[in-house]
Amino acid sequence: MRILAAICVIGLVSCAMLAQSQPATSWHVIDPASMDKSVDPCVDFYAYSCGGWMKSNPIPADQAAWSVYSKLQEQTRAQVRQILEAAAVPDTQRSVVDQKIGDYYASCMDEKGIDAAGLGPLRADLKRIDEIASMDDLADYLARFHPEDLSIYFGQSALFSLSAEQDATHSTETIAAVDQGGLGLPDRDYYLKTDARSEQLRKDYAAHVQKMFELLGDTPEVAAANAQIVLRIETSLAKGAMSLIARRDPAAVYHRMSRAELVALAPSFPWDRYFADLGLSQVDSLNVAAPEFFKAMEALLKAEKLPAWKTYLRWHQLHAQARWLPDAFVQADFDFYGRKLTGARELQPRWKRCVRFEDRALGEAVGQAYVARYFSGDAKQRALKMVQSIEAAMDRDIRQLPWMSEATKQQALAKLKLVVNKVGYPDIWRDYSALTIVRGDALGNGERSNSFEFRRQLAKIGKPLVRGEWYLTPPTVDAYYNAQMNDINFPAGVLQPPLFDPQADDAANFGQTGATIGHELTHGFDDEGRQFDGQGNLRDWWTAADTKEFEQRTTCIAKQYSAYTVVDDVKVNGDLTLGENVADLGGLLLAYSAWEETVRGAKLKSIDELTPAQRFFVAYAQGWCSNQRPELQRMRAATDAHSPERYRTNGVVSNLPEFQKAFSCKPDAPMVHIPACRVW
Ligand SMILES: [Zn+2]
Repeated sequence: MRILAAICVIGLVSCAMLAQSQPATSWHVIDPASMDKSVDPCVDFYAYSCGGWMKSNPIPADQAAWSVYSKLQEQTRAQVRQILEAAAVPDTQRSVVDQKIGDYYASCMDEKGIDAAGLGPLRADLKRIDEIASMDDLADYLARFHPEDLSIYFGQSALFSLSAEQDATHSTETIAAVDQGGLGLPDRDYYLKTDARSEQLRKDYAAHVQKMFELLGDTPEVAAANAQIVLRIETSLAKGAMSLIARRDPAAVYHRMSRAELVALAPSFPWDRYFADLGLSQVDSLNVAAPEFFKAMEALLKAEKLPAWKTYLRWHQLHAQARWLPDAFVQADFDFYGRKLTGARELQPRWKRCVRFEDRALGEAVGQAYVARYFSGDAKQRALKMVQSIEAAMDRDIRQLPWMSEATKQQALAKLKLVVNKVGYPDIWRDYSALTIVRGDALGNGERSNSFEFRRQLAKIGKPLVRGEWYLTPPTVDAYYNAQMNDINFPAGVLQPPLFDPQADDAANFGQTGATIGHELTHGFDDEGRQFDGQGNLRDWWTAADTKEFEQRTTCIAKQYSAYTVVDDVKVNGDLTLGENVADLGGLLLAYSAWEETVRGAKLKSIDELTPAQRFFVAYAQGWCSNQRPELQRMRAATDAHSPERYRTNGVVSNLPEFQKAFSCKPDAPMVHIPACRVW
């Protein structure tokens, strides 16, 4: 599922792939022991705030990164594990929900049963591929496979992807959308770049695909030849795909077409049959997000013979289901996607993987139990109050912006008023009663739960828009803004110590969670979000002069971040990360303004030798404390819209006179960026 312009604080890929080790005992928003006071805060504020944390928190072997966020996610997973283990005990008294979440977990944990079943559960799918004798058969297969293949890694489905989405210019209308897809590597650039590291990674990928074919029973020679076929097809698809940067422009991925127009782009694919198979015969117009991709797909459908396509599909079938297969498949899958791609050294224990899969499969059923146990009404009320004070700060901020005309200000204020605040968990829980979970059928449960979600999405096409749905589950330690819903979302998981603590002082909570709230709110007004109005429609509500002023200011930020080094010779991509950097800067400014307003007139004291203003900034920085393996840093630099944590700290504070004042930084200090960039 593609959520247009929905943006996490830490990124969906990282939320899904990173995480965890031992739960901590008592965590505070500000921890003096995490600091390194030997560092001058005006020279490197990140090292000053996080140096101690980085030293005492080495990356666990089963992780590619270790951070305050992932540590908290780990603790939350351990809590979810307890819920699932209790539900997994067979008992006639279990509720219907407990039966589902418990049996899913028990099946996933049954490594012995999975090993004993061997390739059995996959045979029917492989036979179906084997029997493909025409393009019609291929369409039938994809209509069956796409719902089952909500790929855990990159959201790529075989050949292309299908989803339901809000129309970009009529946000209350839900339409079908087809988009690029079909890759086994994280992004198109992985197939096209010619540097030595990229060449090596492609070799490793080919070796991995070969290995998987061998596990399926191919001889090494046949498996190697098959891997080359997969590489050849995926490289052609990658050449036709849009880059991540191009895709940041919402207009560039919106092309509403008639079905006939789609057919004309790629006539070799039997679209009518595919849609009919999925019960979408009525779809007569849809969004073709990346038309050039479908032209490339057409050329490829003509160029490649059916046996090559069957090889390609066999790989994707295996790739999608590797986690439900015997240990040899799981190990091979980890060796490439974990070890080579992200630098993790050990496979995560099975329970962690099962909790993660279950979060995707039955997340709101599990989340309901999680909220009942771990999320207090008090935390919800405190967080809501903070959200309102940050929104009031943005209202003040817009009114006094020196560079924006009155006309555009009125539009911006109108949009701000329409932002919907969602805190903790959904008002209405998802109904999973149509999803069958069978104890002892891990692969089947995986396919059925993917299929359930896929069909739930497709069922929205042509129906009135339903609001209130969440795209992250309650135990998730992350937050997001959705431009088409114009809502900000803060799951229960992100509203707990050390990120948020109803017992902590205002400086700590505003510096940390206040900045997160401000970040999400600013997404509504970053270079992507500003193109949508309060109703979630792609509509230009800016005067030309204000657009120019805005772009001048974002160029300042893009330039600033492009100069930062990620690892070795890899730099931050200032264009890819622009929206997030704008949100980080705006978010911290709004949080500071809201905090000042909240404590106005109060007599605040220093705590742990930090003044209240210093505490505000240290709280902000300490949310970003992390260690990362270089492999992951490289992958994130290529695919993640977020800057590395070091620059999410230093890049932001160095633009803030409030920070420089709090720490008495001299004008020529490294933490004073000249010129100071500022948008909102
Ligand atoms: Zn963000």
